[in-house]
Amino acid sequence: MTIRTRIAPSPTGDPHVGTAYIALFNLAFARQQGGKFVLRIEDTDQTRSTAESEKTILDSLRWLGLDWDEGPDVGGEYGPYRQSERKDIYAKYAQQLLDEGHAFKCYLTADELNDIRNSRREQGLPAPLQQDALALSTEEQQKREAANAPFVIRMKIPTQGVCEFDDMLRGKIEIEWNMVDAQILLKSDGMPTYHLANVVDDHLMKITHVLRGEEWINSAPKHQLLYKYFNWDMPTLCHMPLLRNPDKSKLSKRKNPTSILYYKRMGYMPEGLLNYLARMGWSMPDEREKFTRKEMFDNFDIQRVSLGGPIFDQTKLSWLNGLWVRENLTTEEFALAFQQWALNPEYLMQIIPLIQQRVEKFSDVAPLANFFLSGMLDLNEEDFKHKSLTIEEIRKILQFSVWRLDTHNQWDKDSLFSELKSLSEQMDLKIRDLLFPLFVAISGTSQSVSVVDSMSILGPDMSRARVRHALNTLGSASKKEAKRWEKEYKAL
Ligand code: GLU
Repeated sequence: MTIRTRIAPSPTGDPHVGTAYIALFNLAFARQQGGKFVLRIEDTDQTRSTAESEKTILDSLRWLGLDWDEGPDVGGEYGPYRQSERKDIYAKYAQQLLDEGHAFKCYLTADELNDIRNSRREQGLPAPLQQDALALSTEEQQKREAANAPFVIRMKIPTQGVCEFDDMLRGKIEIEWNMVDAQILLKSDGMPTYHLANVVDDHLMKITHVLRGEEWINSAPKHQLLYKYFNWDMPTLCHMPLLRNPDKSKLSKRKNPTSILYYKRMGYMPEGLLNYLARMGWSMPDEREKFTRKEMFDNFDIQRVSLGGPIFDQTKLSWLNGLWVRENLTTEEFALAFQQWALNPEYLMQIIPLIQQRVEKFSDVAPLANFFLSGMLDLNEEDFKHKSLTIEEIRKILQFSVWRLDTHNQWDKDSLFSELKSLSEQMDLKIRDLLFPLFVAISGTSQSVSVVDSMSILGPDMSRARVRHALNTLGSASKKEAKRWEKEYKAL
């Protein structure tokens, strides 16, 4: 049997370090056993998936030195490798489950579902909704069917007993069936949900081992049942530990930059970042910290993954990357790598249009552009001196901006501007006043090039991190203050 593993990212945002981490372990596992590694794009959520996100995910994984044998860009025997191009396949399998009595059409509206949920809560019944709870009277069901009312297809779930499955790292896992809901498989627009598409594709793409994050453990019973309904062998499951923030919470962009683009913009070497990701819950037999991708693959043993939540700590990453920078680059290589990082045409062509109109000679460029080539800026309270705003007001603007930017996902200058403009109106501030602390946070001075342009070039994670850093420089909110501000912010 040829070992076949896969990574199945959803292209709904910036490329996440967690995706690279899981990709690395899937690749290591496949390579170590002479197998194949597949990249599949799970873009069934058409409202959130974008071609741009897919491209940055692929580019970022490649930048890190990860490569795949089959995928949307390289092709392969089991394509297409983008789920949106496989729609007909899933509909056929959903129909098969209906025909065989393993699934049912559900005509309930959102309001009806809400009512059922509320009444179950009142009665103290388990939250997951199964087929009985979702059933309409036969008459009503027929009426809606005849009227061609919109419906979804849901899978049937055993109403009692325990689901058992094996995990390569965790051994036997048990989950009670009454904690599993009658999952939607096909949505009313005919698109499959993750569960159906994932199982069908893993089967058709002959995936033998599924290494994925532990957040998917609760999906395993549904998947196991689907394999059983289809009479297919289930791949071996392996749920990897989640990456964590230094405070042990799940790694999240609100606390720690999660985008690979951030680490690239920060100037980490891909080899350093990949080495650090390999250290997340895994160690070399001799426990050495610094090793290459090849050394990892040659020594790979999945059983050396430890389940204690690995902490993604930027200080440790910087230390390790420093070893790579100092020990693995000749002076010429360093110069070239730095040139490619800082002065590549793609980056320069974003920056120069902002700079050109403001300089008289080339020697004026570096002082104006240095914040495009920096990480966190060296700020102090003096930098935030303003003719009318107090430091307290500035801290509040920074905090409100952090909250607003955390939930702002589109990152072009126009949408950033209109978001910040509406925040200024809600806070009853002139837009210039609201932007002042952001100028300082992003560029180190208020006399700089357009702050929204700069933010769009620096990207969401770098921009958010700088605004957070500015707030920390001035003193982040005390507990009491945070409570008050949160209330005010919610009321905006
Ligand atoms: N599309 C899922 C994700 O975004 C894939 C999960 C899996 O590997 O099964 O992570």
